[in-house]
Amino acid sequence: MARVLFMNGGSEGHINPTIGVVQELISRGEEVVYFCIEAFRERIEKTGATVRTFDDQQFIKAFISGGRDHMLERINGLLLTADIVIPSVLEQIKEEQFDYIIHDSMFGCGRLLAQLLQLPAINSCTSFAQSKESIDRELEQFSIDVPTEIVKPIYDQFQNLTMMVKEKYDVEIHSPYEVWCNPAPLTIVYTTREFQPNGESFDQTYKFVGPSISTRLSLESNEFTAIQERKHIYISLGTVFNRSINFYKLCMEALGSTEQAIVMSIGNNVHLSDLGEIPPNFTVKPYVPQTELLPYTKLFITHGGMNSVHEALYYGVPLIVIPQSADQPIIAEQVDSIGAGITLQMQSLTPAQLREAVDQVLSDTAFFTAVAKIRESFQESGGYCQAVDEIVAFKRQYGIK
Ligand code: UDP
Repeated sequence: MARVLFMNGGSEGHINPTIGVVQELISRGEEVVYFCIEAFRERIEKTGATVRTFDDQQFIKAFISGGRDHMLERINGLLLTADIVIPSVLEQIKEEQFDYIIHDSMFGCGRLLAQLLQLPAINSCTSFAQSKESIDRELEQFSIDVPTEIVKPIYDQFQNLTMMVKEKYDVEIHSPYEVWCNPAPLTIVYTTREFQPNGESFDQTYKFVGPSISTRLSLESNEFTAIQERKHIYISLGTVFNRSINFYKLCMEALGSTEQAIVMSIGNNVHLSDLGEIPPNFTVKPYVPQTELLPYTKLFITHGGMNSVHEALYYGVPLIVIPQSADQPIIAEQVDSIGAGITLQMQSLTPAQLREAVDQVLSDTAFFTAVAKIRESFQESGGYCQAVDEIVAFKRQYGIK
């Protein structure tokens, strides 16, 4: 059986869908060496993979130092992580052989490493797939909308970084798209072709395997029993854009005096004491085992992260999506377009509006009908087992045993 080098970064949304894939690969006899940040060691080790890490502080610092305001700045940020990730990985795998690489579509310098190590590569795409044309269009628009004195230094930095990569690692970068999306001969996308915007435009090297959902943690038994007794409303802004104390307070104001049982995950950056008095119908935690909670959830108020939305729809839960950033507005649009929920805008949100939206979703059976339909298509799609079937077919093409 083969040895697999798995490259990822340090974000929950990019790691969770890979857990089932790695577990399944190992159960079919593969040996997986998985690179990520230390915080995910335990979670990945449970799959049976060997975990190796790179310096998380330096990694995050490098990524952020590229800038956060424009896509091309984040692309520069990704290139700035090359000097943190690549030397560390090369040092840790020296004298080892791998048969192929699976890499995240964004973090971990996967495409660069694949070329450097000359390994057949598979791209693990945890958001919607993006085409080169759509990235080029976005960058063109950036050059039109933003003044040249801002655009030029960002492009200059991109050129300097690509030259640095060529000099140090002898790998050519042809476009910002290559850094942002890490294209590879096979791309596994954890959604269905139907839910992917312009799904039909992606060729057969893109395999839409559907949500990859596996159990990750266990709820403490007493909490689990309480949650199972009564279906609740679940609120979370995910693990990245989750610092809005005002939003959590607004939720308590909107729903604190209702009969609903509410579970609210607030992340590690906001403290319980920041929120004032917690209404008795609210259970507030820094983190909850979301995929275990969703089967007992009747409505999910979410930021619209790719994983959160897929997990909810997989378990047949309608959504109120309040997008914060990144790909979330596009995901919210998809939820709206299939009738699986309502989108609200964070900036103008009021407690009355949120409460009204909650009443609307819970009372209109059309939402539940739409959700049941997408749930069926998600559950039929195969998820991580399908992903591994695709990987096996890919190996065959490359003559890998
Ligand atoms: N998550 C969780 N418990 C929490 C909050 C989040 O298990 O309390 C998990 C959730 O199940 C999902 C991931 O964290 O798999 C969040 O990913 P998503 O793409 O939704 O959003 P991001 O955090 O990347 O913005």
